[in-house]
Amino acid sequence: MDRSHKTVSLRPARQFSKPPRPLYTESHPQPASNVPELRPRWNRGPSLARGNLSDLTTIFERMFVTIATMCLETLSRRLPSATGLMRVWLLSMTYRDIPRPLGSDRWATAEWARWAIDSGLAQSVTPIPESSCTLCYGAVNHRGDGMPFSRCQNCSKYTRVLAGFIPTVYSLDFGLESMLHRYKDFGPQHRWMASPLANLAHGFLAAHCECIVDRYGAIDLATTVPSGSTYRGFDHMAEIISKVSSWSVDWDLQLLEKAKRGRPLRGVIDPSLYRAADVRRISRRSVLLFDDTWTSGSTIASAASVLRSAGARRVVAFTIGRQLKPGWGTSDSLIEAVESRRTSLGRCVICAQ
Ligand SMILES: [Zn+2]
Ligand SMILES: [Zn+2]
Repeated sequence: MDRSHKTVSLRPARQFSKPPRPLYTESHPQPASNVPELRPRWNRGPSLARGNLSDLTTIFERMFVTIATMCLETLSRRLPSATGLMRVWLLSMTYRDIPRPLGSDRWATAEWARWAIDSGLAQSVTPIPESSCTLCYGAVNHRGDGMPFSRCQNCSKYTRVLAGFIPTVYSLDFGLESMLHRYKDFGPQHRWMASPLANLAHGFLAAHCECIVDRYGAIDLATTVPSGSTYRGFDHMAEIISKVSSWSVDWDLQLLEKAKRGRPLRGVIDPSLYRAADVRRISRRSVLLFDDTWTSGSTIASAASVLRSAGARRVVAFTIGRQLKPGWGTSDSLIEAVESRRTSLGRCVICAQ
């Protein structure tokens, strides 16, 4: 892929071609799947209300993995290469394996999207669940009177650097989260997953680019959050973008650089992690900032803050996944709601409102 800077053309609000017919909608339901059900029962998410011993065991397993992962994340800021293998081992306890579908060498966007949906790797964000954050669509905490807040604690800080956020699908442990971690952390044999990830994002963006432009104005250029990972040995976002040649936006992957190792703490905007590679290309531009997933949002908000400091007029975040983890605030009910619905990429968080 040519990663050099491209001449960027301004796209007025109505200049996009008519979006393609949505992949699946209520009036065009997805066909019956010929893919076997891959989701085991425990993927429903542990619930104490069920009173099941295996669910309790799963809760303790998840607690162990979560605590161990937090310890590793702290350690990895100091010893990133030494903790790489331990991180992969821990991740393998949580995420499922995903075999490459037969005959997928020549698959196009619609076939990859259908396979991802049929395999339970993608869950719709729309219709937008009640009791979710109005910016990031994740779980929110409860107020003193038991009612949920309208926005999570983190997002109240992000609104000064992010104009909005558009996730493609929800990312659950046994769904997209498994594919993302297999792709990024489990070695070259999983690099083929760049194709389904790219095609999910590409198909969704082609269908909803006009929604984004209607809401936020013209998108001048799009870029990614630099990874700067020391143990992966490849740029996982550049690889995803290289899998599709007909994106709806103009990419410039040279806008941001990683300034130092590490990741921001949850909910903290840390501009020292990134630097603007060329302020002239950012100044007064409206930027679509693309990342693989949104967990706490601090990574993408930190990168957005650097773009804004360099003069970007507006930054809109776009991700493939919006991670949902059980066990906090409204997350359990949120997960239950999205798991029970039919996945559709026909609506985004803008046109669904
Ligand atoms: Zn939020
Ligand atoms: Zn839309």
